[in-house]
Amino acid sequence: MAVSVATLGFPRIGPRRELKTALERYWSGASGRAELLATAAALRAKAWARQKALGADIIPSNDFSLYDQVLDTSAMLGAIPPLYGWKGGPVDLDTYFAMARGAQGDAHAECGAGCTHKAVDVPASEMTKWFDTNYHYLVPEFAPGQAFALSSTKPIEEYLEAKAQGIETRPVLIGPVTYLKLGKGRGEGLRRQALLRALLPVYAEALGRLAAAGASWVQMDEPCLVLDLDAEEQALLTKAYAHLAAAVPGLKLMLTTYFGGLGGNLDTALALPVAGLHLDLVRAPEQLEAVLARAPKDLLLSLGVIDGRNVWRADLDAILDRIEPVAQGDRDLVLAPSCSLLHGPIDLAQETAIDPEIRSWLAFGVQKIEELAILARALNEGRAAVAEALAASAAAARSRRTSPRIHDAAVAGRLAGVTEGMARRGSAFAERRRLQAEALGLPAFPTTTIGSFPQTEAVRKARAAHGKGALTDAQYEEFLREETARTVRWQEEIGLDVLVHGEFERNDMVQYFGERLAGFVFTKHGWVQSYGSRCVRPPILFGDVSRPKPMTVDWWRYAQGLTDRPMKGMLTGPVTILNWSFVRDDIPRSLACRQLALAIRDEVLDLEKAGARIIQIDEAALREGLPLRRGEWDAYLRWAVECFRLTASGVADRTQIHTHMCYSEFNDIIQAIGAMDADVISIETARSKMELLGAFAEYRYPAEIGPGVYDIHSPRVPGVEEMTALLRAARRRLAPEQLWVNPDCGLKTRKWPETEAALVNMVAAARAARAEA
Ligand code: GLN
Ligand code: ZN
Repeated sequence: MAVSVATLGFPRIGPRRELKTALERYWSGASGRAELLATAAALRAKAWARQKALGADIIPSNDFSLYDQVLDTSAMLGAIPPLYGWKGGPVDLDTYFAMARGAQGDAHAECGAGCTHKAVDVPASEMTKWFDTNYHYLVPEFAPGQAFALSSTKPIEEYLEAKAQGIETRPVLIGPVTYLKLGKGRGEGLRRQALLRALLPVYAEALGRLAAAGASWVQMDEPCLVLDLDAEEQALLTKAYAHLAAAVPGLKLMLTTYFGGLGGNLDTALALPVAGLHLDLVRAPEQLEAVLARAPKDLLLSLGVIDGRNVWRADLDAILDRIEPVAQGDRDLVLAPSCSLLHGPIDLAQETAIDPEIRSWLAFGVQKIEELAILARALNEGRAAVAEALAASAAAARSRRTSPRIHDAAVAGRLAGVTEGMARRGSAFAERRRLQAEALGLPAFPTTTIGSFPQTEAVRKARAAHGKGALTDAQYEEFLREETARTVRWQEEIGLDVLVHGEFERNDMVQYFGERLAGFVFTKHGWVQSYGSRCVRPPILFGDVSRPKPMTVDWWRYAQGLTDRPMKGMLTGPVTILNWSFVRDDIPRSLACRQLALAIRDEVLDLEKAGARIIQIDEAALREGLPLRRGEWDAYLRWAVECFRLTASGVADRTQIHTHMCYSEFNDIIQAIGAMDADVISIETARSKMELLGAFAEYRYPAEIGPGVYDIHSPRVPGVEEMTALLRAARRRLAPEQLWVNPDCGLKTRKWPETEAALVNMVAAARAARAEA
């Protein structure tokens, strides 16, 4: 037997976000196609050489993308919606980026004189989250009778490009069934069976070309195998792989699954005519036994033993204890990260500012490949061959288990003291409502905003200058006070009922709190692609969480001091902080969330003590934490709701608790939303024309709701009548005394002129609604 090392995908943005810079230069017109493509090629070359140098034996190609790998797949298959005016042939960059980002202007230069095309103005394709990651892909769109044709040879070109550099790669494709499952149909009669039938010859052609170019293996990503699939979907897999195996018999396919276990799809997967199977043994370690027992002897197993979704250094001895018995059999094995390294930062070596002890617990993409190489050597040559590396790993694991930086007895003590009553408000909503109405004296259809006001160039510049030391603390503070004061005054002037301070002091709604809580660490370069050129730098939650001192009270007090109207205290909720961070793998998520809940609860109580009558606890990311499999939803929702309640329930009945969620699908989680027992919830609804309020109406949601009356994702200023009409639509579904009037979400990405115009109109719409009531 022999053990080799594979990677399934490498971050493409570059160690210093070189791809982001190149893309943005290209989009702005500062550079041309040649420069963009040259940067992309250089990034690929470096990534391949680097993975090889780190000890990877099986290196992916076609894991690179200028924007998104699902969009690349649509381009490869020629699945371009008619809207983009594509006429067949290779999909050009303009079409590609129009699908990615929308396009405006006249891009029909090629039509020449007499062209009757109007200037193009096409929206981007819909974007949504890739499984349970924070990576967003462009949703494939299929028309009735959709045809497919090989329209991009990117996988073949990139395979040959690596080969020319002396690197043999294993090209990656998104498998046909996952691709179909991610797509959506337009019009009637969309049949997956028929689509698959049309799709398979194109896949077969791409695979045939890869084989002809010299590829011996192709990695076929079918992460849909970790979802709940029905019998029809399982049959699609069987059909697809039978077709491909017959069409390209010499080519070996590594069927690649990640983000969970095969569960009920295990037998389907094991029966497919593929040469290899990759398993996620981080999320689903338990599946190894069943696979070993049932997998054909000649199926090459790829074991995803290193966590591709998180930033922790592995305990290599513990992994070896599990894998050695398998490696002693007569199977060859591949060791790999659980999934593509796309979902984590690239290289820990860049983080020189992180405390050395904490650093010793971390591993980013580069370090994860090193870990795999050590594991493979230990299995091939014996542990003694890598004794030093194993000792270092063991020492890090030991220090992580015992370090006082992580384990805080006081936090454990507080958790032990949590009682059921702490997650329950004093009185039921009806009684609270009466007391709050008395305390607040708000008009019907009260108006408010979600929290942030425009983060202008000036705000960002001041923050950067402060970060660099060019502005003193006092100067920066003064600047923020002025911004805040101006914003408070302006809200009063236009007649908003419940005010906010504007969140100018916050860089990001999670980072701001993470930086003020014990238990978090931040990176300088730990960027992770979110979509296209957009990257985020998630905080790393490494230890027990506590709140050394109040985090928002001074700002609240300052802002409330400027007005007699109620000023909302603004907080990010525990579930959202958790879902937008890299979290500990040494305790359950639910426990980390409870620690966060207690810390934010302290802040809630301090705000109340300072005099806040309304406190908003944003849970923008509650829904996205839902597990991939339905069967696990209840457990998640139970602890997530409990953590919110623990955060919110310490206040008096007369203190009004708001929450905010920026999405619009509530049907399947409405019970949980109800169970949160907030007094007011603001949600995104403008684009759905209030339709989603149906879920609240049907459920008979008892509390108050602020359905967003305008979409903050666009600079467009909605008119008074438009918003009044939305309020009328809301009133048809809910009682008028339940309704608040607010935008869909925070205004930080907007500019002042459109914000002012829109909010003035919004206040007028609320007045119109009151007059009609
Ligand atoms: N209070 C936050 C803001 O207004 C909420 C942002 C969000 O929901 N994403 O910016
Ligand atoms: Zn929002």
